[in-house]
Amino acid sequence: MFAFSTDISYAKNADTNDELARFKKEFHFPQKDGKDVIYFCGNSLGLQPRQTATAIEVELESWRNHAVGGYFGGTHPWLKYHQYCTPALAKMMGCKEEEVTVMNALTVNLHLLMLSFYKPSASRYKIMMEAGAFPSDQYAVETLVKHFGLNPDEAIIEIAPRAGEKLLRTEDILQSIQEAGDSLAMTLFGGINYYTGQLFDMAGITQAAHAVGAIVGFDLAHVAGNVPMHLHDIDADFAVWCSYKYLNAGPGAIGGVFVHEKHATNSNTPRLAGWWGNDEQTRFKMEKGFIPKTNASGWNISTSQVFNTVCLKASLEMFEEAGIDRLRKKSIHLTAYLEFLLKELKHINFSIITPADPEQRGAQLCLYFKERGKEIHDKMISSGIIVDYREPGVIRVAPTPMYCSFQDVYCFYEILKNNF
Ligand SMILES: *Cc1c(COP(=O)(O)O)cnc(C)c1O
Repeated sequence: MFAFSTDISYAKNADTNDELARFKKEFHFPQKDGKDVIYFCGNSLGLQPRQTATAIEVELESWRNHAVGGYFGGTHPWLKYHQYCTPALAKMMGCKEEEVTVMNALTVNLHLLMLSFYKPSASRYKIMMEAGAFPSDQYAVETLVKHFGLNPDEAIIEIAPRAGEKLLRTEDILQSIQEAGDSLAMTLFGGINYYTGQLFDMAGITQAAHAVGAIVGFDLAHVAGNVPMHLHDIDADFAVWCSYKYLNAGPGAIGGVFVHEKHATNSNTPRLAGWWGNDEQTRFKMEKGFIPKTNASGWNISTSQVFNTVCLKASLEMFEEAGIDRLRKKSIHLTAYLEFLLKELKHINFSIITPADPEQRGAQLCLYFKERGKEIHDKMISSGIIVDYREPGVIRVAPTPMYCSFQDVYCFYEILKNNF
């Protein structure tokens, strides 16, 4: 698909022709020996956009100058602050603006949405998820079923790769869903597994789960801002994600939530509510009786969290300018280039765990370097390349298209080539 070469001229040309290259200078980079580091950890915590500080200052100023008046006055009235992110999020998640809102944080939202949609009965009570899901998701599902008095060993079905394999096969997931049949209440998969980088067939999972009458939820922590979604069209019931990974909204940033309109417009969809989810016409009448908004914001509970939303708002402006489809196009190119270069390193004993098919992965490659993993990781860090290390011997590399260049990827390759 690409005419790659191991000559650095390939990287230089690709950077020259990169229509998104200008965004790199819109970010703050940690410094190493007086130089910007190369940052491949955007799958863990994205870099700080330069415009974030200004955006925060605007809200500090509103607070300073207007105090309570800031809810209705100021540059961006806080009353509707949770709404300012929805147009951009709806575009990247492939849904209607009415189907998305921001609130709380990821695991909190996972609990809230699962409580809305998980209604175990004597015969239908199982939840299916991938084995080796992110620990927080495992804890959330474990404690949810216990909350309903169920035994996690019976109520949770974990789908694991076949013996000797590291990735899940779609056919195995779909078959397990069919086998679970009437006993399956809900599926909860990560859109992309945080460790392997595998992007699941979300449309296929949704269709299969709906066919047996189960609810379909996704954790899109590693998808948001990385791979464009079509949540409305694939007919997922709900999804949650965080904003501090590829979305660059900073540590503890506000979480994102998708609720399909068929549930969001139904006032009878169960939920744990608070006044910010109440119909805006009646909210300030302070009367008894919750009247949910007929959109995803009907799940908002508390007053808009201005200071952990402002960074997302600022960052999304850049996503709007860059466009998620252009970012994805560059991302596929960048990650394929990394993969090509790595495969040229025939003298190093390693394997790539992440699927080779670009349709089954996002930006991240998960590299298994065996016993030399830690040593390679330390060399990268001392050379000013930030990557993530996991025992045993695994380095995760996420060349995010917003601020990583082809020459950054080349540097990673060069250090491996010359030192190991
Ligand atoms: C990053 C991540 C989390 C973290 O959840 P928080 O509630 O934001 O701390 C949870 N699940 C997955 C799959 C993740 O990748």
